[in-house]
Formats: sequence, structure tokens, C-alpha cells
Amino acid sequence: LDPVPSDIDIAMSQTPKSIKLLAQELGLALNEYELYGNTKAKVNFPVLERLKSRKNGKCIVVTGITPTPLGEGKSTTVIGITQALGSHLNKRVFACVRQPSQGPTFGIKGGAAGGGYSQVIPMDEFNLHLTGDIHAVTAANNLLAAAIDARIFHENTQTDTALFNRLCPSIKGVRNFSPVMLKRLKKFGIDKNNPEDLTSEEINKFVRLDINPNSITWNRVIDTNDRFLRRITIGQNETEKGQTRQTGFDISVASECMAVLALSTSLADMRERLGRMVVATNKGGNELITADDLGVGGALTVLMKDSIRPNLMQTLEGNPVFVHAGPFANIAHGNSSILADKIALKLVGSECDEKGNLIGEEGYVVTEAGFGADIGMEKFFNIKCRTSELVPDAVVLVATVRALKMHGGGPSVMPGKPLHETYLKENLELLEKGCDNLVKHIENARKYGLPVVVAINQFTTDTEAELSLIRKISTEAGAIDAVPATHWALGGAGAIELGKAIIKATNEKQEFKFLYDIEKSIVEKIEIIAKEMYGADGIELSELAKDKVKLYTQQGFTNLPICMAKTHLSLSHNPNLKGVPKGFIVPVRDIKASIGAGFLYPLLGEMQTMPGLPTRPCFFDVDLDPETGRVYGLF
Ligand code: ADP
Repeated sequence: LDPVPSDIDIAMSQTPKSIKLLAQELGLALNEYELYGNTKAKVNFPVLERLKSRKNGKCIVVTGITPTPLGEGKSTTVIGITQALGSHLNKRVFACVRQPSQGPTFGIKGGAAGGGYSQVIPMDEFNLHLTGDIHAVTAANNLLAAAIDARIFHENTQTDTALFNRLCPSIKGVRNFSPVMLKRLKKFGIDKNNPEDLTSEEINKFVRLDINPNSITWNRVIDTNDRFLRRITIGQNETEKGQTRQTGFDISVASECMAVLALSTSLADMRERLGRMVVATNKGGNELITADDLGVGGALTVLMKDSIRPNLMQTLEGNPVFVHAGPFANIAHGNSSILADKIALKLVGSECDEKGNLIGEEGYVVTEAGFGADIGMEKFFNIKCRTSELVPDAVVLVATVRALKMHGGGPSVMPGKPLHETYLKENLELLEKGCDNLVKHIENARKYGLPVVVAINQFTTDTEAELSLIRKISTEAGAIDAVPATHWALGGAGAIELGKAIIKATNEKQEFKFLYDIEKSIVEKIEIIAKEMYGADGIELSELAKDKVKLYTQQGFTNLPICMAKTHLSLSHNPNLKGVPKGFIVPVRDIKASIGAGFLYPLLGEMQTMPGLPTRPCFFDVDLDPETGRVYGLF
């Protein structure tokens, strides 16, 4: 339709097919999925075992140039490509996307189901509760937070003997050691057979974690942009006996539990990762306190056991989509789950004959890497692919004329403000200058040894001359092709040529390589990312960051990948520097550790882990029709 109706109007005008029908079309057996109503299902792991002999389908990772704050249409393009391949080019295809947080949905950005005629439906369910995975992450995170403060409280208010009797009660003369206490006995080499003979020193060591309250790194979380929770004081009721402490809330998707969900490769792996999450150190500073030390690792896994199964939904054109996990893209790695990719790759994969030749044609998985390629794609390769051992066959780089003009020196682009007229009429000079940013991202992607296709997400104001210029510059910079696509306005039909170019790219020779060797030192790895991906001259560590490097090196965390926490609005650490900034040194303010998720994250500036609401939040427009229950205003 012209003009294209609002995202929610398009989404609501399409009746989704029953998810059971979609599951059947995918060949899922009845015990391999569980319905959550008529439009969502969770897919169970036994499917991986059943399909293990299949060769994986091809994997396409979709990333983008440095965006404007409006977003350049990565999610929309993921869905557009999926619709083009599945509904117009007759391929088996699956999209894998993140579950959005309710923070941005009701705050500034709005939802993340794609847009126009390339969306996941039902988009209100997609953007809000889905099947409760974010709620499960919130519950797990906050159980751990409660466990930390409760333990400190009990240790502060009880003698060693009282603690011992409560932690390991004597039932009919026999001490009851829970698994966590047994582990602790073992850790200190204490003989559990004669618990009544323990010396007072042994009891003291055994019962006290001795958590240093100032060292606690674990915040509480909520999935709402609530700026007044950024810093709070807890323990103010008199029952807590004056044990107050300053702490804060993060948005749920910034929880390490969410990063663990996205990076787990099995339930056993998730259990292990949740248990080893570090939350504090002891008062001596020589012992790390983990979720397992607090005895809560098992309970966290139980809370998250259903969330580990990917959620099946569909595009507007009825193609399958996994919506699974949504780790924050700055302090975490910002990619959907490994398990969703793995299951999808098997579902579109093919059996082979005895000689290893494919029986039938393989399909495609289109998976999204959040933010610009300097962040999402870099983390996709160096963190997600390292853990999953999956290698994509092609990179799709989403670009818009609008963002490129901004990089060429166009006026700033702000959400909620009308676009400056520079963006509404042809300006080849500005565009050509701004293409430097695109060229740098193409070069960056080529460093991983993969073929690159540029997807020009076309807006109605783009001109033929502008599109041709981008195409010329992209191919000269080493992209296989750069194809304008109108999937936002036309659905899959608008991305057929793009789809064909991607298929061609996946048949190109590729030699995937990581950007850095995991064995390198922490500082070397940070430096490689800063120089190679951002174009920096070097890095500069604060005294705090240097101390952290020492600490993590002592603790044996050197061989973890690096998850840079940086702005997505510039290739540099400074959001105001557009295009391809030159001659800058990246300051590393601090380095934090997510040991459960399995990465270290250097902070390259002030990172906000709890967004605030703007004066005019998206929720102003959201309501429903009480007669029909139909939602409107979400986008
Ligand atoms: P990203 O994933 O890069 O953040 P999205 O795909 O979420 O971006 O798109 C951001 C917004 O831009 C959505 O509201 C979407 O409807 C809109 N949008 C995307 N592509 C186009 C286009 N070609 N024309 C007009 N609006 C678009």
C-alpha cells in the first residue's frame, strides 16, 4: 500500500497461521515442540539429536554500518531477506532474532519486530512478554541478588556455631550437608565424617563467605526504563538492623543471566555457567564469590530451564523465525542465542548420501548481529562463533542513504524530530563522503575471510543515482555486490535481487578466521580490536583498568574473549565522531568480568545499564480497543 501503513497496522492486518501448522511444515515431531497458545511454540532439544546426521544449512549474518539513532533497518532486513528466500525464491529458510526488552519498546526506540511489510508477527506478543524468557532471567538475577544480601546479613548477625547449625542442621544427630556445603568441605579439605569434631577455625572458614559488601558487582534488574532505580539504598527497614547498602538496578537484558542464556550450548552448559558467575570477592580480596558458593546456581538453572528453548514464531509471509535471548548489545555481546542458530541450521539442513553428497538442497539461516558491525559483528565472530563453533557463509551489511549522508557531514538525526531536508533530496557529494564509513565496515568484515553483500535498505526518498553510487563504491571496496531492497515497502518481493546476491555470495570461497588469538594477553586483545575494527591509533588504560588486568591475569581469566562496551553511534568511543574517525586513542576506563557468560568487558566510556524514559515515551501512543482487545500504537 502507498503510503505504507504503520508497523502495528500491517502486523494486525495479517492473521498468522497456526504455529502448530508451521511446526509440522518444519517436520517437527509432536514431542519436539510445546505450544504457547496458537502463535508461539518452544522447540525442544531432542530435535538436535534426531537431526545430528544432517549437514547444517548455510548461515548468513546480518549486520550494519554505524547507524543513526533511528536504526537503519537491520531487523527489517533480516525479515525481508527471510521472506524473499522463503516465499519468493522457494528456499528453506529460518530467521534468528533477539527478543526485545520492554525498556526501549516503551521508551525511545520502540519495538524490534522489523518494520513495514517485513515483520515478525504477532508483533505485540513479540515485543512484550513472548513466552516469559526475560521474566525468567529477571527472576533468576534477583534471586541471586537476594541471596547475596541475605547471606551477608546472616553472617553479620550470627555466631559461627549458630551459622553452622543453620547451614548444616543436625537431624536426629546426623548433620545434613547440602551439595553446596559438601563442596565447601571439600574445598577446605575438611573431613565430613566427624562434623562434631571440627575446630572452631575450621567452622569459621567453612561457614563464612565473608563477602566484602563494597566488592559486590551484582545488581538487581527490572525490564523497565526506570532511571530512579539506577542508584538505591537497600536494607532500610529496622528488621535489617541498620545493614544498609548502596546498590542499583540494571535493565533485565543487561543481566549476566541473559548473556549466559544466549551463549549456552546445552542445559548442562547453562548450569555450569550460572554457577560460576562471580558476584563479589571476600574481605581478604583473594577469593571470588560465585553463585555456586551461595548455593543458588541450581535454583537459577531451574528458574531458567524453560527459557533455554528457542521460541518459534513467523514472519508476515509465514516463514519460521526463532526469537531467542536478547543480551544488551553494549556491556554484553548483543546477539541472539547459539541454540536457536544451531537448531535452525539443522532444521534447514540436508541429509547426505554415503559419499557425503547432499541429498536435496540445503536451506539458509538468517541471523542478526546487533548494533553496527564494529560491535555486533565483531562480537558475533569473536565471542559467539568461538563458543558455538559455527561459521557463517556470508555477511550482509545493511546501509541506508540517510546514515551515509550523516557520516558525510549531514546534520544530526534525532528520534522524534523531523529529518532535515538534506536527507530528503539527492546529495551525491555528501553521500560519497559518508561512504567511507561503509567502506571501513566492508574492510572489517573482509578481515574475517567472508564474502560481504551490502543491503541498501531503500527509503522512498532515495534516488537512482544515489543507489548506483553506493553500489559502485561497495564493489570497489571488496563487496560481492550492493543491492537496493524495498522489503520494508513490499515485503519479500522487494528483496528478491538481494536474496539472489546473498545466495551467490554463500557459494563463494571463504576462509574464516578470528580477529585475535584467544591466548594473547588481555591488553593485546583490546588493542587489536581498537586498531583493526575502530581504526584507533592505540589504547590507554586507566589505573583502575590496569589493576583489573593484573587481577584477572592472577585469577587465570586471561584466555577469555573481549566484549567491548562502547557506543554504537561511532566507529570510535566518541558518539559525536562520524564517518571514519582518525588519530584517536581509545580510553579504557575499567574492565569488568562476566565469568559465567565467559568474557571480559572493557568500558570505553560511561555505559548506561539502566536507560531512562524520555519526555515523550513510546507508551504515550499505546492502548487497546476494549471491545476487541486489539492493541494499537506499538511500533
Ligand atoms: P535496526 O534493527 O537496525 O535497529 P529496525 O529494523 O528495527 O532497525 O528499523 C527501525 C525502524 O525503521 C522501524 O520502525 C522500521 O519500521 C523503520 N524502517 C526500516 N526500514 C525502513 C524503510 N526502508 N523505510 C522506512 N522505514 C523503515
